[in-house]
Amino acid sequence: MTSKSAAAARATVYGYPRQGQDRELKRAIEGHWKGRVDTAALRATAAGLRRANWLQLADAGVHEVPTGDFSYYDHVLDTTVMVGAIPERHRAAVAADPLAGYFAMARGTQDVAPLEMTKWFDTNYHYLVPELGPDTVFAADSSKQVAEFREAAALGLTARPVLVGPVTYLLLAKPAPGVPAGFDPLTLLDRLLPVYAQVLAELRAAGAGWVQLDEPALVQDRTPAELGATARAYRDLGALTDRPQLLVASYFDRLGDALPVLAGAPVEGLALDFTGPAAANLDALAAAGGLPGKRLVAGVVDGRNVWINDLQKSLATLGTLLGLADRVDVAASCSLLHVPLDATAEKDVDPQILRWLAFARQKTAEVVTLAEGLARGTGTIAGELAANRADLASRAGSPITRDPAVRSRAEAVTDADTRRSQPYAERAAAQRAHLGLPLLPTTTVGSFPQTAELRTARADLRAGRIGTAGYEERVRAEIREVVSFQEKAGIDVLVHGEPERNDMVQYFAEQLTGYLATRHGWVQSYGTRYVRPPVLAGDVSRPGPMTVRWTSYARSLSERPVKGMLTGPVTMLAWSFVRDDQPLGDTARQVALALRDEVLDLEAAGTPVIQVDEPALRETLPLRAADRPAYLAWATEAFRLSTSGVRPQTQIHTHMCYAEFGDVVRAIDDLDADVISLEAARSHMQVARELAAHAYPREAGPGVYDIHSPRVPSAEEAADLLRTGLRAIPAERLWVNPDCGLKTRGWPETRASLENLVAAARTVRAEL
Ligand code: GLN
Ligand code: ZN
Repeated sequence: MTSKSAAAARATVYGYPRQGQDRELKRAIEGHWKGRVDTAALRATAAGLRRANWLQLADAGVHEVPTGDFSYYDHVLDTTVMVGAIPERHRAAVAADPLAGYFAMARGTQDVAPLEMTKWFDTNYHYLVPELGPDTVFAADSSKQVAEFREAAALGLTARPVLVGPVTYLLLAKPAPGVPAGFDPLTLLDRLLPVYAQVLAELRAAGAGWVQLDEPALVQDRTPAELGATARAYRDLGALTDRPQLLVASYFDRLGDALPVLAGAPVEGLALDFTGPAAANLDALAAAGGLPGKRLVAGVVDGRNVWINDLQKSLATLGTLLGLADRVDVAASCSLLHVPLDATAEKDVDPQILRWLAFARQKTAEVVTLAEGLARGTGTIAGELAANRADLASRAGSPITRDPAVRSRAEAVTDADTRRSQPYAERAAAQRAHLGLPLLPTTTVGSFPQTAELRTARADLRAGRIGTAGYEERVRAEIREVVSFQEKAGIDVLVHGEPERNDMVQYFAEQLTGYLATRHGWVQSYGTRYVRPPVLAGDVSRPGPMTVRWTSYARSLSERPVKGMLTGPVTMLAWSFVRDDQPLGDTARQVALALRDEVLDLEAAGTPVIQVDEPALRETLPLRAADRPAYLAWATEAFRLSTSGVRPQTQIHTHMCYAEFGDVVRAIDDLDADVISLEAARSHMQVARELAAHAYPREAGPGVYDIHSPRVPSAEEAADLLRTGLRAIPAERLWVNPDCGLKTRGWPETRASLENLVAAARTVRAEL
């Protein structure tokens, strides 16, 4: 342990929430789209927010502030602009007006499709997917990076531009429209590197001492060819003479085989994640002989969850790291973009719980405290350490995080509790007899249009303009409308339409103990869309039924079977901030037990079909394949725990919305649900073929109506999709339904589409 390296320890972060305290950026951008905010005003708002963030970071004691992490929409799209990979169809618009063209790439226009959007690794942030092909010509445009660096430098701050690295950029890309699917964007590396070289030189000329290149794609399993490309990229960039010092950053998981590649590269520094599964980086780094002669930026503060750090534990990690690198700096594990801005804004959260929470601002303070402790000894941070110990103790000992009744119930769960009383084949027969459905039964995925009146009613309730009774009457009126439409349309298994739900996770989170809601806890989902994920802070239990009266009301209106509708345990975790003080599987089990009670109450109230949605099952898959079996084991067990208490004749449905899922078919089978509905309309029933290829033995409803578009599918089109589905799934096991819920659709297209869907089912039934 050299005191020289410790004394130099500095605090930094890789990025900060972009939106501003009151989401000023969202309002400015949306105002700009509506023509109310001109370009100059938008730019001024953005510059003001960047400046406020930098000054806030510097005031907090951050030694090196990030630049270039700001974005009007998405930092991967910014990289696309930086490397000049503008898709052909957007080039004219970008040339005519760069900002308008930028937003056109992000959102599309009447005539031109936007770039595709997908999730940024395993976060809930979405980026715009670069479109590349063999004809792609890159051209450097460092203007945004250089300008933002200069803004920070002009404030007298030490700034470090942060760029998406060239390997990750290519690995995130997909073949442009018209380019064969087999095209590998990584083949463009040699063409891309000179562009990065130019940007680096221009940043150097602007005065940047260090530049950070983010390579999170390297925490995923990579082929030897990909690792070889990585080695080549950093050998070439390292060999440049006119460049700043390079810090290659990774986060969200451990580097694995990429660690020796980067450690051996001629770059001056690495930034590594040491939280969660990435903690394995510590031993791997020691085994690899450390980073002699390099700077190590240690991400010891979890940048993507909302809990306070265990400072003592982080100091121990940092102490070990001191012996492994030339210089050790302290950071959050990833950009703070993934957490809300400031926990102290939460005036409604119990002050006792508030002490356990750290949002971006609090995490920044933790990073600074740790750097201080590392540089000057723990004596200088004795006060912070004592307060941290007390806060951690308060969390560990709180009845909120430890409810003995919940714990003993979870411990008592046996394997039998996670199994239906009869195997699928036997209970399928019981269900057939019980439900008396035709072949190719029709149903929907749950929600019906969330009308403006419903949203207004909810706002009125919140504002006290209407009382609970008035609001609930609005909800019942909506259920009447939804049920009567479905009866008239001839749908076989009805739903109540979910009008009472603001959101499929939040609705349940509000009714379960252990969850808390924030008032200002906004996190960017994509572009100007922000979400406020609930915080799963404590032990979970269900004080009372959550959905039964709405489902029962729908049942009272019709002779036909009505399907109850719940959100599954994995999705309840995936779209929340989850506790980090126990394994995720333990938390999932608690949520599953609460849902199990709801399932049984629905059944007791006479609900013959119950659907438990798990759209997040696949998106929560760990980044490393080695971690997936353990995840799928607890995830599928939690689902089964929530659903397997019912009688054989009660039919359990589940729903997921993606078109590619060959990698989780086994897991889907392990859910032991009776029926699954899936997205399939756009991919011409691809999922049906995948299910067949894996000999999936249960009933399935590959969607025949693409609900992501206002377009109404014709009855012939839906019938054709059904005939395609029948080639993969026998008629006894094929359901007819849309791709997903209808909450974002309007009533007119919903009516027409569902009528066509029923007509298609009738036509194809007649052909059987
Ligand atoms: N039941 C939900 C709905 O219909 C499912 C939503 C989802 O899969 N994301 O809205
Ligand atoms: Zn869905």
